[in-house]
Amino acid sequence: MSKKLTSRAEDYSKWYNELVVKADLAENSAVRGCMVIKPYGYAIWEKMQAELDRMFKETGHQNAYFPLFVPKSLFEAEEKNAEGFAKECAVVTHYRLQNDPDKPGKLRVDPEAKLEEELVVRPTSEAIIWNTFKGWVQSYRDLPLLINQWANVVRWEMRTRLFLRTAEFLWQEGHTAHETKAEAIAEAELMNNVYATFVENFMAIPVVKGLKTESERFAGADDTYCIEALMQDGKALQAGTSHFLGQNFAKAFDVKFTSKEGKQDYVWATSWGVSTRLMGALIMTHSDDHGLVLPPNLAPHQVVIVPIYKTDEQFDEISKIANLIISDLRAKNISVKYDNRTTYRPGAKFAQHELQGVPLRIAIGPKDLENGTVELARRDTLTKEVVSLDLLTGIVEGLMTEIQNTLYKKAFDFRASHTTEVNTFEEFKDTLEKTGGFISAHWDGTTETEDKIKDITKATIRCIPENSVEEEGVCVFSGKPSTRRVLFAKAY
Ligand code: AMP
Repeated sequence: MSKKLTSRAEDYSKWYNELVVKADLAENSAVRGCMVIKPYGYAIWEKMQAELDRMFKETGHQNAYFPLFVPKSLFEAEEKNAEGFAKECAVVTHYRLQNDPDKPGKLRVDPEAKLEEELVVRPTSEAIIWNTFKGWVQSYRDLPLLINQWANVVRWEMRTRLFLRTAEFLWQEGHTAHETKAEAIAEAELMNNVYATFVENFMAIPVVKGLKTESERFAGADDTYCIEALMQDGKALQAGTSHFLGQNFAKAFDVKFTSKEGKQDYVWATSWGVSTRLMGALIMTHSDDHGLVLPPNLAPHQVVIVPIYKTDEQFDEISKIANLIISDLRAKNISVKYDNRTTYRPGAKFAQHELQGVPLRIAIGPKDLENGTVELARRDTLTKEVVSLDLLTGIVEGLMTEIQNTLYKKAFDFRASHTTEVNTFEEFKDTLEKTGGFISAHWDGTTETEDKIKDITKATIRCIPENSVEEEGVCVFSGKPSTRRVLFAKAY
């Protein structure tokens, strides 16, 4: 299989699909819309999980686990949520197979084994969790309840793409219960900020924080906070959402508490989630025509060492030096892989590590043995330099921070040059066609206008940015008065 990728300029979407497969991140499976996450891709996801999990615990949350199946009657209880997800639900109707009497060697559903009540495979877990919370919350002393679950969910998506939109995906879902509305809103905002900090600092992807409009809101939420990122093809990606659920689920599942004053009231709720879609964001923000580019924080190996040798003696000598480098770098918490496979030539190894986005490559050859040097190659800039062994650890340590920062800055500058303020619908359409990206425009606040703009241009309102300032203006489409700009974009 050729390792060379289609270029982004030639066909962005093809580039993405090829990269995911060739960099060994994931592949399509025998199940429609469901992917196999391969070990290298899973190692990156595990790094994301570990950091997010740390951040959730630092903000007072605990992990728990709830069933995959939601009895239909529970699923129906919060009407808006049920209605919003109904079209994407996989449903279990039977619990047994039997030999098919008409087709030898084949199985069929046992008609006798029909479930009395259908089970919905969770597309999200509010229903089953709030039904459980009912037994956990009696008084104000039981609050706040700060729970997170790492799980898989199923949404029967019609148009799927590896990581970005799959029928089954991995995610975490936070579910919290609070005494007051203000506390629940603060929690929803806090977790949106946690997501923003994670995606910016850890993944080196700048995001816009904001609120979704009514039509883009999570089904069953009073408000949806989100973080939106911009991909290299000028399309936006919703990278995470945090919902203020009001008392909707507490009312649907009758979750009440007795306050300090002895009064009974419904509990206030939030839920928040990020998924394996973040892998898609990572790929589409930083990678290039040579393959994946990983920020050091997310790289399964931050450094790879490749020996270049002709004789066994040279190989032994290089291996000794490599082992010294490894122990020095590990002492600085830098992860290193020594690629001493004898089954591949150095050129093939270089190509593989480039394709897989290893941030730094150290090559050691016979000349380096003589000179006490190594060759250091950066994946992000594709630059190389010869470095003295004595200085190597310090340089590598410095580069870990520098590469992380350079990637963030590059993505930030790209977003800045692809965010345009427009004041007329002509400018709106023109910008969307020529540069894409985020379009900052006035909107009259109605779903009707939002829908019309979407029908004509395919652009949606990504969010009402948190930092948008009050400003007198007129809606770019209807000409009606507006008090602040919102961000539009075509999105994944
Ligand atoms: P939601 O529960 O709809 O707010 O989604 C929670 C998170 O999962 C958001 O970050 C979404 O972008 C992401 N997400 C939603 N649907 C999918 C999907 N089909 N595949 C991967 N991620 C998804």
